[in-house]
Amino acid sequence: MAKYVFITGGVVSGLGKGITAASIALLLKQRGYKVFMQKFDPYINVDPGTMSPYQHGEVFVTADGSETDLDLGHYERFIDEELNYSSSVSMGKIFSNVIENERRGDYLGGTVQIVPHVTNEIKKSIYESEHSSHADIIITEIGGTVGDIEGLAILEALRQIRYEMGVENTFFVHTTLVPFLFGSNELKTKPTQQSVIELRRIGIQPDMIVARASENLSDELKYKLSLFSSIPKESIIDAVDVSNIYRIPLNFHEQKIDEIILKRFGIKKKAIDIKEWEKLVKRVDGLSDKAVEIAIVGKYVGLHDAYLSVAESLKHAGYDENVKVNINWIDSEELEKKKVEKVFENIHGILIPGGFGNRGIEGKIKAIKYARENNIPFFGICLGMQLAAVEFARNVCGLKKANSTEFDEKTPDPIIDKMEEQKTIINMGGTMRLGNYECKIKSDTLAEKLYKKKKILERHRHRFEFNDKYRGLLEEKGIVFSGINEPSSLVEILEYKEHPYFIGCQFHPEFKSRPIRSHPLFRGLIKASKKNL
Ligand code: GLN
Repeated sequence: MAKYVFITGGVVSGLGKGITAASIALLLKQRGYKVFMQKFDPYINVDPGTMSPYQHGEVFVTADGSETDLDLGHYERFIDEELNYSSSVSMGKIFSNVIENERRGDYLGGTVQIVPHVTNEIKKSIYESEHSSHADIIITEIGGTVGDIEGLAILEALRQIRYEMGVENTFFVHTTLVPFLFGSNELKTKPTQQSVIELRRIGIQPDMIVARASENLSDELKYKLSLFSSIPKESIIDAVDVSNIYRIPLNFHEQKIDEIILKRFGIKKKAIDIKEWEKLVKRVDGLSDKAVEIAIVGKYVGLHDAYLSVAESLKHAGYDENVKVNINWIDSEELEKKKVEKVFENIHGILIPGGFGNRGIEGKIKAIKYARENNIPFFGICLGMQLAAVEFARNVCGLKKANSTEFDEKTPDPIIDKMEEQKTIINMGGTMRLGNYECKIKSDTLAEKLYKKKKILERHRHRFEFNDKYRGLLEEKGIVFSGINEPSSLVEILEYKEHPYFIGCQFHPEFKSRPIRSHPLFRGLIKASKKNL
């Protein structure tokens, strides 16, 4: 039988609960246990795939093609395991299952209620993850803040799980904020105390508090929190702000989080192996101060979380190339009105990430043209690759009105067009070309040099594709289609020969980059950009 760790949050949102969950999972994994991670979100959307990045940040795509919460990105980057459909559960998914059951007549005439029908469905998705993953320890993070109406059914289900599985098999970690008050110049524990009371009101006694604060809590404060919340003092854990998030697991390990949890579960404390992680943190802390300046040109740059995995991947590449990466966030819509050479004056490399919709498209094309003509290393992801093809068709092949039919349905030259199987789709949720597809890499290309492989597997999320009719024309002018999905003949990677680094891919490599193993396409960009330092 698996053991369960539940991570709740109190006081405010955005505390770094996901990173706390991922760090705990990493430590338990490095102790030799098989872990599985899960995120519960209280919203009614079935998944975040249809939500605006401004509402929700990036949509993280798993290998099996699930569109999930961005915290899954932290999980995969920390524990380096592929997660799946059962790792991301929203209340929308739970409710739609319950309603489906009801319509099928599964409830045999009963009145369908939050307790027990909705709570049973929540418990089922937690218990099922145990069967599908065969993990020793399941770590489940609950989105939102304790006290929210939306999260009540989830917390009630967790209370029941503790009752059913026993205290010895369940462990509740409550993450909170301990604010520093100017004026009185001290850390304040009252909000934490109150949010513990709120959890208790639901019937959950937490076993550990992870206190996010600007400095470590004094012994006195820990004693106070311990007494008020009936939690041993050693289980009041400091989560002091850090500039490098990959240090957090080490901070937690120093405070014996992993030992405390294993002790409760009564399972053997195997020796931990975190050498690789310690090396990583050392490397990150030791990077020279000189930074490579990379421009990310997008329309959601006001909210950096919208490009979270892309930003992390750039940093990972910097770790391997031994250089700091400084991201310059460029609003593509504003770029349309600005002088590109001025905006990119101090930029060493340009990245265009994925995106949807018309706004800011011409700004991105302007950036690509600038990169291509001025030998600035360029990397286009998904929409970024599609626009690189449009730019080339317009400005090199002379097809002045070339476009993607996503932005101009009547363009005479649809360089990018909807995939055939997408043309009849009406429902927007979960219907793109999603998840892992194979890509065959052409010999003697930049892609082959970077990947050092002939076949790769990458994750996708798109409806449009490069239009094969234009392949010959672009090839004549110097574009190399270096990655192809064989059965469908879809273009996966394109590159431009006459340039130090110009590459675009239809898939999203950012989902596979890890801090201990950067992704070749990002690493290539940083390596090429470094030469412009
Ligand atoms: N909007 C484009 C498509 O659907 C690109 C998608 C993306 O960048 N993820 O094909």
